[in-house]
Amino acid sequence: MDLMDKLVGLCLNRGFIYPSSEIYGGIAGFWDYGPLGVELRNNLKAAWWQAMVRERDDVVGLDSSIIANPQTWVASGHVANFHDPMVDCRCCKRRFRADQIDPDDACSEAPGGEHDFTEPRQFNLMLKTRIGPAEDSSSDAYLRAETCQSIFLDFKRVMTSARQKPPFGIAQVGKAFRNEITPRNFIFRSREFEQMEMEYFVHPDEGLERFEAWRETRMGWLRGIGLAESKLRWHEHGPDELAHYAKVAYDIEFEFGFGWQELEGIHHRGDHDLRSHTEHSGKDQSYTDPDTKQRYTPHVVETSIGVDRCLLALLTSAYHQDEVGGDKRTLLRLSPRMAPFSAAVLPLSKKLSEPAQRIAADLRRRLNVDFDASGSIGRRYRRHDEIGTPLCVTYDFDSQEDRKVTVRDRDTTEQERVAVDGLRDYIEERVLGP
Ligand code: ATP
Repeated sequence: MDLMDKLVGLCLNRGFIYPSSEIYGGIAGFWDYGPLGVELRNNLKAAWWQAMVRERDDVVGLDSSIIANPQTWVASGHVANFHDPMVDCRCCKRRFRADQIDPDDACSEAPGGEHDFTEPRQFNLMLKTRIGPAEDSSSDAYLRAETCQSIFLDFKRVMTSARQKPPFGIAQVGKAFRNEITPRNFIFRSREFEQMEMEYFVHPDEGLERFEAWRETRMGWLRGIGLAESKLRWHEHGPDELAHYAKVAYDIEFEFGFGWQELEGIHHRGDHDLRSHTEHSGKDQSYTDPDTKQRYTPHVVETSIGVDRCLLALLTSAYHQDEVGGDKRTLLRLSPRMAPFSAAVLPLSKKLSEPAQRIAADLRRRLNVDFDASGSIGRRYRRHDEIGTPLCVTYDFDSQEDRKVTVRDRDTTEQERVAVDGLRDYIEERVLGP
């Protein structure tokens, strides 16, 4: 079984990720996050928000609506250009994205397995919907294909109300939708997904310098959340990949189980976005520096990462199998800040549940903590190793006497006796840092 199959199985069985509407056969490109998945996802988004917004003076947050005035997508170029090339196989009738055909994919109908493809046609990836009771095209609207357009639309409002001025950034986490021709590789490419995007507005002369600084910051963050350094690399967009307006663009690629693929884009978009919205809306989006009186349209450095892709990268990095005392085990070496549970409290016997529950309740004031009283202690350890819980706290019969518990480390399996009185500080320091 390859890594991806193992991960999909673990996610399904342990409550991380399920196919959406499974009892009706599912729906391609849509996924549900179960009890552990939602915790991991929230931890990931919180870590991004903490680093990108709360720890900085120069970046503020936004939560805009998913549906915007459709003119937005005309101005952004999505209506005219957000296409992928699509081909059909005349034999098996399946549809493919022309630039992503797997050479090993055989036609199920043709005798030699060779597909008989039509000429590529351009397929627009935006998901359409209708607003209000009218049935004509005046009610057409789009589910946003990226979260950043509203950041551009709200640029002036945010700048003034937050008392910011260039250089400053606006960050947003939210859903995006793309009618991908072939959603695949689990949550890597889906039709509904979430993005964490930041647009940094700068004086044109400062663009490249800020761009380089953001590249460094973003790579550092990805390492910091626990992605293996050997699985991260830069990919610079060549002249054929670079959007016509972009000055310079890099992707951070990650080695997923199915090859090196884009995880995050860091793009210097010049003044394309604000200029285009100025032209289409007739509302000037330029900025006048009060000190120099210079008027200019700010340039934009964008950092854009998919929550779901990042989560898959975390799981891929974290998945390990090893042997402890002759027993095989699976473990997720998630960083303690990311793990769905920060700790699990395990009474050695059900008779000890009451005092152990009290310890769990105390830890739960600031951390997500599981209480698990069923099964042998070894099985409970394995269960928590497999979902990435960094610390297991065992309450045994001696605990009654010495007011100490055993804390077991997921990765080393080493155990330590810790006083109940200092336990909360001990665990918070191990999970949240000093
Ligand atoms: P790709 O070339 O893989 O289709 P893209 O270059 O179109 O991606 P961007 O428009 O740069 O992607 O989107 C920014 C980020 O949003 C990507 O780096 C990725 O993490 C995430 N993303 C984009 N499309 C999807 C998708 N269909 N499913 C999940 N995440 C996505």
